[in-house]
Amino acid sequence: MSAKDSILIVEDEDRLAGLLADYLKAAGYAVHRLGEGPPVAAWVRTHHPALVLLDLMLPGRDGLEVCREIRTFSQVPIIMTTARVEEVDRLLGLELGADDYVCKPYSPREVVARVKAVLRRGGAEPARCAGALSLDPDSLRVRAAEREIELTAVEFALLATLHAAPGRIFARDRLMDRIYQDHRIVSDRTIDSHVKKLRRKLADLLPGRELIHSVYGVGYRYEEREDAP
Ligand code: CA
Repeated sequence: MSAKDSILIVEDEDRLAGLLADYLKAAGYAVHRLGEGPPVAAWVRTHHPALVLLDLMLPGRDGLEVCREIRTFSQVPIIMTTARVEEVDRLLGLELGADDYVCKPYSPREVVARVKAVLRRGGAEPARCAGALSLDPDSLRVRAAEREIELTAVEFALLATLHAAPGRIFARDRLMDRIYQDHRIVSDRTIDSHVKKLRRKLADLLPGRELIHSVYGVGYRYEEREDAP
């Protein structure tokens, strides 16, 4: 990067904000911090940060309102951070225009990796990469390079859902909604076990590539590019 990408951290926990700032600076970003909701939109409008890390629970105005406010005038990438896993389902349901979500407690290293990933894929518009896989819904087969595997209907539905929106996090609940008519009959563990089998088959197809990433406490996302460690 020529000019330093600037990251706005909106976080009312001072220690956490300081820690994040240190890690992001070490990764080469310029960092600005705000500790409450009300001044955020005006700051973004004036300073045009490259990305906003936005805490959900903030004094003055919460992260959801702030996010909506920013989206009225800017497509700056926004990563929401939240301490409440159950909130993430709500966030995903609202589709309010955040680009990614991180659950607390998180490691600052993980946040830096997410920041890099979101900036790399250009924020709000997930990169439509050529793609390593080609999916054929009629035969339930997936091809990559010269190889081909056959999936079960459930595995195929799971992969097709994730694959259609690279980088996007799907909560287990939403995946179950997509896959089963009546998801009350299946548990979270069912999704996990299908993902496990699916990963094993994909590993035969593309050895050494991790395509389906777990998002701790939330669900899964499909990403062909590896996050920087
Ligand atoms: Ca907070």
